[in-house]
Amino acid sequence: MISIERGSHIKAGTRTDHVRAGTRTEVLTEVYLQDVSKTYGEGRTSVTAVRSASLQIPRGQFLVILGPSGSGKTTLLNLIGGIEPPSSGTLAVAGLDITALGTQQRTAFRRDYVGFVFQFFNLIPTLTALENVQLIAELLDCNGEALSEKSLKSVGLGERMNHFPRALSGGEQQRVAIARALVKQPSLLLADEPTGSLDLDTGRQILALLHQLNRRDNRTVILVTHNSAIANMADRVIRMRSGEIIEDTEVEKPLAPEEVTW
Ligand code: ADP
Ligand code: MG
Repeated sequence: MISIERGSHIKAGTRTDHVRAGTRTEVLTEVYLQDVSKTYGEGRTSVTAVRSASLQIPRGQFLVILGPSGSGKTTLLNLIGGIEPPSSGTLAVAGLDITALGTQQRTAFRRDYVGFVFQFFNLIPTLTALENVQLIAELLDCNGEALSEKSLKSVGLGERMNHFPRALSGGEQQRVAIARALVKQPSLLLADEPTGSLDLDTGRQILALLHQLNRRDNRTVILVTHNSAIANMADRVIRMRSGEIIEDTEVEKPLAPEEVTW
C-alpha cells in the first residue's frame, strides 16, 4: 500500500511555485487552484463541468460553494478532494501538487488527508455506528476502537455507538458520517449538500457541528449547497454557474449556525 507520511510530501508530487515561495500566507494556504478545468467525455458530447477555476483557500476558512444544480459544485469539490484529476490547470492541497500525482498516490492522498461528508450519509446498514467508523480507522491502520469511540463522542453520539443506522435518525446518521470523516483527523473537511436530506432543525445542528469543527479545531471546511441561506454562516461564499466561478465574496459578519434559517 502506498502511504503518505503526515507532514511529509509525496516524492513524485512537486510543490507549486506558490508553496515554494514559503511566505506566511502561502504556508497557510490549504487549497490552491490555478486555471483548473474538468471536461467529461470527448468531442461534441463533452461537458466542461468546471472551467478555468482559480481560487486560494487559507487554512481554517469556512467556505460555502453555492450554485444551481449542474453548475459544477460537486465536480469542483471532488477535484479538491482528489476523487478525480483535473483535465488541466494546477491544483495543490496542503502543499501537495495533486496534478502531479498518479492514481495510487491520489488514492493515498484522499484516504489520509481529506474528510468527506455527503448528502446521503453512505453508512453500511449492517454495521453499527461504531463499526462504520472503525472500518475507516482500520483502513488507515490506526488504533481503531479508541479513535473511533473518541470520534463518535466528539459528535455527540457517545450513547448510541452500538446502534445500527436504521435505529438512528437522519441527523444522527449524518453525525456518524462526520465521525467517520474525523478519524483521519483531516485538516480539510469537504461536505457535499450535508443538510440536503435533513429537516431545518436537524440541518442546523449539523451546520453547528461543522462550524464547531472549523472554529474550535481550525479545520478548513468547504461546504457545497444550492441553499443560499446557508451561505450566511460562511466566512466566504463562492458562486458557480455553468462550471464557472462567477462571484467570490468575503462575508463581513457571518451568522451563527443557529441564526441561519430557510
Ligand atoms: P452540481 O454539483 O452543481 O449539481 P456537478 O458537478 O454534479 O454539478 O455537474 C456539473 C456538470 O457536469 C453537469 O452537467 C453534469 O451532468 C456533468 N457531470 C458531472 N459528473 C459527470 C461525469 N462523471 N460524467 C459526465 N458528466 C458529468
Ligand atoms: Mg452536486
